[in-house]
Amino acid sequence: MTAETPVEETEDTVGDPGRVLVVVDVQRDFCEGGSLAVAGGRAVAAGISALLAGPHGYAAVVATRDHHIDPGSHFSSEPDFVSSWPRHCEVGTPGVELVDELTFRSFDAVFDKGEYAAAYSGFEGRSAAGEDLAGWLRSRGHRAVDVCGIATDHCVRATALDAAAAGFVTTVLLDLTAAVSAERAAETLLELAAAGVAVEDRSTTEAS
Ligand SMILES: [Zn+2]
Repeated sequence: MTAETPVEETEDTVGDPGRVLVVVDVQRDFCEGGSLAVAGGRAVAAGISALLAGPHGYAAVVATRDHHIDPGSHFSSEPDFVSSWPRHCEVGTPGVELVDELTFRSFDAVFDKGEYAAAYSGFEGRSAAGEDLAGWLRSRGHRAVDVCGIATDHCVRATALDAAAAGFVTTVLLDLTAAVSAERAAETLLELAAAGVAVEDRSTTEAS
């Protein structure tokens, strides 16, 4: 190979309109003061807002929301905080709303999930127009997603794993996520790596 070898356009680059940011479940109930508060949730919301306040370079920004009506055993009065939870993000309550610190609201689409069953992945959600996230991305030619939000070890995890499984080039912005359990978050990083998901942590790269 010579240095003159041109960069060939491949299926991966032709017509790719760019990377999409997926903001997962940055809702009042998942932040401090909410019914299923995750420590650091409000700081994550502020960090995402700061990222999106400047020239962020994303081709599109979408959000997902936990959007429960009657999700069955997902809710429990004696939750184990692994597969059952206190009531949260119920449609018609303030807790379902995006948290105030998330000042960016110009989402290109919002995907609601979990109306009648647990749904950790944003890829299980639907937009107001009835589209699912994979279809929405593909129909616009997007091939790469960055995932941030709450919680690292649950909905961010599931959304990133589904994105990779669906063939999207996937990166988790770790410092723009908050975890329920540090132990599970550590396991999640191994799972993401095994699935080919990149993990970017700007808090450590800036500090070093
Ligand atoms: Zn839920």
